[in-house]
Amino acid sequence: MRPPPAPWMCPSCLRRSLATTTCPLRPTAPYSTAPIQSSTRRPIQLAIIGSGPAGFYSAYRLLKRLPDARITMFEKLPVPYGLARYGVAPDHPEVKKCTETLETVARESPTNFHFAGNVPIGDGAGELPLAALVPHFDALLFAHGASTDRRLGIPGEDLSGVLSARDFVGWYNGLPALTPWALDLASVGETAVVIGQGNVALDVTRILLSPLAELRKTDINEETLEALSRSRIREVKVIGRRGPLQAPYTIKELRELMQLPGVGFAPPPESWDALMQVPRKQLPRQLKRIAELLEKGSPTPLTPDSKAWQLGYLRSPTAFLSHNGRDLDAVGFETTAYNAPLTSLLTSGDPQANLIALRAAKVRSTNGDKTLIHAGLAFRSVGYQSTPLPGLADIGVPFDTTRHVIPNDGFGRVVSSPSATASSPGEGLRAQDVAASLPKTTAAGAATGSGLEKGGIVPGLYVAGWVKRGATGVIASTLEDAFAGADVLAGDWAAGAAFLASSEEVGGHGGGETGQQRGWEGVKGEIAARGIRAVGWAEWEVLDAEERRRGAERGKVREKMRSVKEMLEVLDR
Ligand code: FAD
Ligand code: NAP
Repeated sequence: MRPPPAPWMCPSCLRRSLATTTCPLRPTAPYSTAPIQSSTRRPIQLAIIGSGPAGFYSAYRLLKRLPDARITMFEKLPVPYGLARYGVAPDHPEVKKCTETLETVARESPTNFHFAGNVPIGDGAGELPLAALVPHFDALLFAHGASTDRRLGIPGEDLSGVLSARDFVGWYNGLPALTPWALDLASVGETAVVIGQGNVALDVTRILLSPLAELRKTDINEETLEALSRSRIREVKVIGRRGPLQAPYTIKELRELMQLPGVGFAPPPESWDALMQVPRKQLPRQLKRIAELLEKGSPTPLTPDSKAWQLGYLRSPTAFLSHNGRDLDAVGFETTAYNAPLTSLLTSGDPQANLIALRAAKVRSTNGDKTLIHAGLAFRSVGYQSTPLPGLADIGVPFDTTRHVIPNDGFGRVVSSPSATASSPGEGLRAQDVAASLPKTTAAGAATGSGLEKGGIVPGLYVAGWVKRGATGVIASTLEDAFAGADVLAGDWAAGAAFLASSEEVGGHGGGETGQQRGWEGVKGEIAARGIRAVGWAEWEVLDAEERRRGAERGKVREKMRSVKEMLEVLDR
């Protein structure tokens, strides 16, 4: 009997379906899912660091291409899924369904996949040093995402009332915090300012303004619900340093806010014509839809009773101001102006070229007009940022401190110098690009190929997700990138390329040609010796069931545990 077709995850709509299912968004030439015949090699032992979308899509895909692979996934928290659990907004449950991919891996490949939760890779107490992994694995895949956020570097950024959107998101999503974090929304007045116009900024705005009845059904943290019920915030101003056609928000998230029950939309003080400059019919389709949505606004009228949100453009923050040196009173902005009229950027009849040119339009400071928004609460939402794992340099891997990525060849192979990094790592990888990057095996059994011949590739080290390409991209793009990277890793292994075991390059830690890499079986003793209490997949399932049980008691999907201590107590009771 033929085996059932492999499940297929549509990278555009994120629907899981069978390979035979027709999806209008399915690419016409999908990557092959066929297993790759490994030469005479034993099963690869792979360590994946991070269990977010980059980690779990890589694991899923690698097991399709090398079905006998052995994968150990290290996660610093006892629970998996990264930003799919702790970033994606609670009112977007359909997006969180992507986590089913890792459930599939754990369920269908119990002997090939080991989840090592609560094992942070690092050099502190209770952490496993990176160098301790190297002797036990053939390859390491860095997928540890972006653990911090950008700062603005302007006066007053540490005032009470100035918050990082990342902290706020972690708080409403129940991310275990090292230091207890609480927000008294009753004492910060009626106006909040959000700096930045990405989708995180829109998530923050929606959570601040959403009707509580809607949020109560989600897995939003109970403390946040309590704080929101006392909130006096009535208006949120979301401010960008560029214009409406350059802002990174996407149409779905914009529409969601426009349709939020009981929340009106206040247009910016300038006219849309002045801000957009380009006649609507000359706009590329994607921007035309955004323009129409903005101009149409919200069906909820602005009344003294309604809550409201506003988009403000061409304003760059200059300072957070306080009358007492402690609490935020106002945010100061300087007006910016386009470097060149936007119409002058429409040099081509090609809508795609025009889209790129308009999106990339730059602004300059006008050194003149200053504006002030009075507010007791402000969020900086100007992007997340990856940081190097402690010990990375010790194993011969640099970190690109300009782009905040591990330098790589664009296909996920780590390179030893930032200057050898692909200029746009991973953006829009196509199946034929991946195929061209794979090594070929020569008659003598050596692996050669365009990918491997690129300068400075460090054997056996790979990278995926936000730490590969910067803190940008939705889950669908993380999926595509992870799949392409897993294909490259599998191709390199099958072609007999050099990996950690055969490498002298990884800080001298390579295990040599012993074939003794035992993966989890080899490293678990080192973990226990450090007093680290690793959490396996079955234990995560216990935590998952407990959270669902607690949620059911409150009529919601789940109630997350807020601390690692509590999670471990549940497991050890
Ligand atoms: P992450 O998801 O951050 O995963 C990294 C993992 O590595 C984490 O589990 C982390 O705990 C672990 N880790 C970190 N350091 C270590 C260490 N030292 N040792 C062991 N483990 C470690 N996309 C959408 O398509 N839809 C959405 O609605 C959406 N909402 C979002 C909301 C927010 C607030 C944010 C920030 C992003 C959102 N995205 C959304 C984008 C999406 O979350 C990212 O594309 C995706 O999560 C990136 O995956 P990643 O695996 O690279 O990183
Ligand atoms: P983002 O999309 O990169 O947006 C960052 C915003 O900050 C931009 O408006 C940027 O302006 C602004 N900014 C940066 N530096 C600034 C400065 N010094 N002063 C003023 N403004 C500054 O980042 P994000 O919102 O954190 O989102 C990260 C990724 O996650 C994105 O790909 C996003 O789509 C994804 N995500 C998706 C969803 C969803 O699908 N629902 C939800 C959340 C996040 P410029 O454009 O001028 O640089």
